[in-house]
Amino acid sequence: MKPAKTQQLPFIPYGRQIITEEDIQAVVDVLHSDWLTTGPNVAQFEKAVCRFVDTSFGVAVSSGTAALHAAMYAIGIGPDDEVIVPAMTFVATANCIVYQGGRPVFCDVDSHTLLLDPEKIRQHITQRTKAIIAVDYAGQPCDYGALRKIADEYNLILVADGCHALGAKENEESVGRLADLTVFSFHPVKHITTCEGGMVMTDDAEMAEKMRLFRNHGISSDHRQREENGTWYYEMIDLGYNYRISDLQCALGSSQLQKLPRWLEQRRSIARKYDAKFASIPAVRPLAVRSDVSHAYHLYVVKLADSKQRTRVFRELRDENIGVNVHYLPVHLHPFYQDNFATFPGQCPCAEAAYGQILSLPMYPGLTADDVERVCDSLQRAVEK
Ligand SMILES: *Cc1c(COP(=O)(O)O)cnc(C)c1O
Repeated sequence: MKPAKTQQLPFIPYGRQIITEEDIQAVVDVLHSDWLTTGPNVAQFEKAVCRFVDTSFGVAVSSGTAALHAAMYAIGIGPDDEVIVPAMTFVATANCIVYQGGRPVFCDVDSHTLLLDPEKIRQHITQRTKAIIAVDYAGQPCDYGALRKIADEYNLILVADGCHALGAKENEESVGRLADLTVFSFHPVKHITTCEGGMVMTDDAEMAEKMRLFRNHGISSDHRQREENGTWYYEMIDLGYNYRISDLQCALGSSQLQKLPRWLEQRRSIARKYDAKFASIPAVRPLAVRSDVSHAYHLYVVKLADSKQRTRVFRELRDENIGVNVHYLPVHLHPFYQDNFATFPGQCPCAEAAYGQILSLPMYPGLTADDVERVCDSLQRAVEK
């Protein structure tokens, strides 16, 4: 057993939700209503997110992962299709391709931003390539201008995994508008939460309709529509899933969304504090931020100049009750992908090198200036040992 620490300071997680009394009331109101699952709050939440990111359609589903799966279905990914994904992301970005029988092709990232490197995409394009999934890692939009050019040149569909980037912008255009389809997650560590939940944004009416079927078993009208039309008849026209999100969750989501602009400001203000501090600590290098973007800071990620320090620094910060984390083990290094898709170490050298250096520091709106200072001081002490 470890000896008990004297005067352990409170735990600071790397991310956490804020739930207000207003949020709770919104959920309680739904519990008193007629609809628990697909009801009026689902469409209202979809419209509210559409307004926020300026897209025509939003399809809310049970998780960000379900949203990615729905997006792969909507663009018709099937056996033998290849989809290019960055190596540095959460596993769900690649798994959604496999769900549809397709093959994820891992592309390396830029060392400074950890975003998909457009220069490295071309070498992976084959006759079977159907789409690119760009990941706005940490909350920073990818270079969508360059990605769009490549997508158009090779007739590929551009999908954004914007799970880190609700509220981010590139040249004043919101993530949500920058790709053909954009996926958001409302997991509690993300910008706003519905407990579990996700949404796909698009301007394409046909794809939106496909995804509405997909989230409801492939059935051509939902329970509520049937009741309104006074009919029992329905048809299942394709194989779908139960990926529905509840009215309860969407009421929470709508209530959370009202706070998002303020929360984004708070995230950016925390990032500025970290930036200012690390400007004078050469051993700690924040990721580069592109000049034409407004970063949503789902994560605040630093690279340690000396990768040999990372494991020790991680452990020391955890021992001081600071919930640092590592996002992510590059996806192609997971045993599942090595075993089933013949991926191997050395395949994406920038992502792999970065993996040895990165730390995600605590980042969420409720983090106080004192918390930020405590994190910075602990990190500085650890790297200067
Ligand atoms: C959170 C996340 C997902 C999955 O979202 P869930 O809602 O947890 O299913 C997918 N991709 C990325 C990059 C994420 O961060």
